[in-house]
Amino acid sequence: MAYLPDDVPTPEPTIDDKPFWDACAKRELRFQRCTACRKFRHPPVPGCPNCKSFDLEWVIALEDAELYSFTIVNYPAHPAVQKVLPYNVAIVLFPSYDNVRLISNVVDAKPEEMMIGMRLWLVWEELTDGLFLPRFMMNSTKAQKR
Ligand code: ZN
Repeated sequence: MAYLPDDVPTPEPTIDDKPFWDACAKRELRFQRCTACRKFRHPPVPGCPNCKSFDLEWVIALEDAELYSFTIVNYPAHPAVQKVLPYNVAIVLFPSYDNVRLISNVVDAKPEEMMIGMRLWLVWEELTDGLFLPRFMMNSTKAQKR
């Protein structure tokens, strides 16, 4: 079951983040890394904020994530989410990837279970149009079964 309803707007890739979404379609979470200074960055941008190089590569991220911050949404920002309130929006931190952060959701956590610093496991959620979204779970055994 999807964490958010199917009628929530889906990502519309830009020229900069299309490789990210193409990787997601293969269930690969990839982050952009500068090949000159080796720094990771996210969200994707054409030039390196650290050294100004335009040379980059897309590196697969291993499951090494934790909850950096979150909010619990109680008021709908879009009519489609009215029926799933309250839900969480999480900022997920990847310490092994220069602390890049990804905005997502923790799909198996009740609001009172969200704890900053908690370990998270990546799961893929398939949308109706064949798109895959990276989501996260706090329970590793459930994550492995999905
Ligand atoms: Zn760089």
